[in-house]
Amino acid sequence: MYRADRMADNLPLLEPFTKQHTYCTYCPKMCRFSCPVSVAQSSETTTPWAKMTSAHHVNDGNLDMSESVAASWYGCTGCLRCRTHCTHRNEVAATLHAARAEAIQDGRAPTRAFAVLEEHERRERNASLAGSRLYASPATEAKADVIYFPGCTANVLRAGDAVAGWRATRALADAPVHVVADRCCGLPLLEAGDPERFRRAAAEVLSAISGATLVVFLDPGCLHAMEVESVRHGLTPTANRMIHLSELAARHIDRIKPLAKPTTARYHDPCRLGRGLGVYEAPRRVLAKILGNEVEEFNQSRHDSICSGGGGQLPRTDPQTAAAIAKDRLARHAWVGGGNIVTACPGSAKQLSENGNDPVMSFAALLEESCREDR
Ligand code: SF4
Ligand code: SF4
Repeated sequence: MYRADRMADNLPLLEPFTKQHTYCTYCPKMCRFSCPVSVAQSSETTTPWAKMTSAHHVNDGNLDMSESVAASWYGCTGCLRCRTHCTHRNEVAATLHAARAEAIQDGRAPTRAFAVLEEHERRERNASLAGSRLYASPATEAKADVIYFPGCTANVLRAGDAVAGWRATRALADAPVHVVADRCCGLPLLEAGDPERFRRAAAEVLSAISGATLVVFLDPGCLHAMEVESVRHGLTPTANRMIHLSELAARHIDRIKPLAKPTTARYHDPCRLGRGLGVYEAPRRVLAKILGNEVEEFNQSRHDSICSGGGGQLPRTDPQTAAAIAKDRLARHAWVGGGNIVTACPGSAKQLSENGNDPVMSFAALLEESCREDR
């Protein structure tokens, strides 16, 4: 419904993104094809243009923030593919985070988004408990220059990846390694619509890793949250260097041993690692050494890779669409020959393995096997 009686700038949290949603509103939908959500839903309502334009018009008072409008703002995995195909490199996902925060404050956000926020403390507690079991070993150094940060998703849902990443980090780091597994980076809070709680959670993580020479992240989402989103929310990274596990492995490529039997796998670029942080080559170089073969590629790879559907809290707010996106990615995998898939993101591995029958290999598990002393 259009309304003419409201003042402009109704959504103060959207103010830093005025340029972004205005650009989209006056754009002829140049990135229309790029959004995995609108493709999976066959819906114009969830194209980047439509989500940004509705935020623009709610902000300027020409559109009510109905529950269906607010729901469309949650139809984004944060994959950043629209940004790749945008001349302005427009930050659609970050703008939608702000729009979601307004929807939460207005009480119009989807029930499942409120549930993500309500359940967050329990999720963090479970991750911390899992962490204290997984890394309960005298070899987990209490204080060290190198920190390993596995992330909640891996600790709870991909424990094998989490432990494999820890062992590989210890094997490669040439230094004692301390694990920080008792807190969440806060990304689910940001994605569900509570930037203030995200800021507090991120500040706590930055404090926990402050002074470390090197912090190795298993989950690209956590690394992106610490390196990019925390800065966007006014925080200053405190560790000297934050890197992904694949970057640590690439630094030590001479020590990476091939598997006893060469094999092949197609590499799925995690969105936050590739488009988010520009890390495309490190995992490919390391995997080529481990597998004994260059990785196979999707038709859409590197900057144009298509999401697995695991980001942006979509599996929790709209599991059907999240599953449809994963199935689409798997269909594209079958189209170019099928076989093994390998990815360097615990969330993507979970999403792809739950939505098909193709073997999904974990970068961390392969790396751990390659680093094992008894090989
Ligand atoms: S993100 Fe860029 S290409 Fe896409 S609708 Fe907005 S301005 Fe246009
Ligand atoms: S970031 Fe990805 S999911 Fe979100 S609007 Fe852009 S293309 Fe769609």
